[in-house]
Amino acid sequence: MHNVVIIGSGCAGLTAAIYTARANLTPLVLDGHEPGGQLSLTTHVENYPGFPDGIMGPELIENMRKQAQRFGAEFKSGAVTEVDVSERPFKITAGKETYQSRSLIVAAGASARLLGLPGERELIGRGLSTCATCDGYFFRGAPIAVIGGGDSAMEEANFLSRYASRVYLIHRRNEFRASKIMIDRARANEKVEFVTPYVVEEILAPEKVVTGVRLRNTKTPETRQIDLQGVFVAIGHNPNSAAFRGKLDTDENGYILAKHGSLTNIPGVFVAGDVQDHRYRQAVTAAGSGCMAALDAEKFLEEHRD
Ligand code: NAP
Repeated sequence: MHNVVIIGSGCAGLTAAIYTARANLTPLVLDGHEPGGQLSLTTHVENYPGFPDGIMGPELIENMRKQAQRFGAEFKSGAVTEVDVSERPFKITAGKETYQSRSLIVAAGASARLLGLPGERELIGRGLSTCATCDGYFFRGAPIAVIGGGDSAMEEANFLSRYASRVYLIHRRNEFRASKIMIDRARANEKVEFVTPYVVEEILAPEKVVTGVRLRNTKTPETRQIDLQGVFVAIGHNPNSAAFRGKLDTDENGYILAKHGSLTNIPGVFVAGDVQDHRYRQAVTAAGSGCMAALDAEKFLEEHRD
């Protein structure tokens, strides 16, 4: 029987682990599909307070993990397949293992969205990627595209210009969701070419390796083909809340609803990080909400010493 099981080992989960471990609750952290979460897929993090020269995402996350371990947090690999929160203790199944816990912190994060084109998923690792920092290096000297019009797309376009010969930034509208500073940076980058307003109709891969994209203008009947070796999809994320569907209250997009900080509709189940946040999605806000969930879990356990 555990005091607290934390689902997810990104910024939110690890902060919750540090706090609950320091409260002598010996938390169990279940790593999930993407151990370390999205920070482990980033390069330079310049806006996490305390690092005037920035820090690499994987290093930041590794530091948090060590910090949690130092105070007694336990880690297990494996993604959660089922949860039973209908009564306490809660039951959490990850593969063949089932854990029981007096409280639960859901910090399962969010995962990259795909375009939904036929055969797209099979092209991951064959020229299609959702992680510029993981795969950029493979496209040295090659033309590539980044799809999307948010901050992620701008950031990835700039990052990938270090490697690629040309970066086509393809977006379905002429307006961008990204912040002005990020757009200005991408526009000032001579390797980045803005291609708007176009949607990707087909990712060309006759030999099951990406060779280009076929685009359709969203305002005119015009279509266009660009030869490329890589396509980076940067169109946002989906919350990893499938295991909680019908058990915890969510919004229409599947983000778990949090009230008064980290409380869910089930007493004893708390939520933190990107699985409940489609608005801020920052490392520091995820860490802050992980702290809130830990303090709420601690208080709950004090009040329910059964
Ligand atoms: P986002 O802001 O939700 O933007 C997603 C983009 O993808 C939008 O431009 C959207 O187009 C487009 N899109 C969505 N579905 C699409 C589809 N099926 N086909 C084609 N295009 C599609 O996501 P994000 O860029 O990942 O950013 C998420 C959050 O993280 C934001 O709050 C952002 O500020 C933050 N972030 C910050 C930084 C930074 O400050 N360094 C870096 C990365 C992310 P429409 O605009 O037409 O809907």
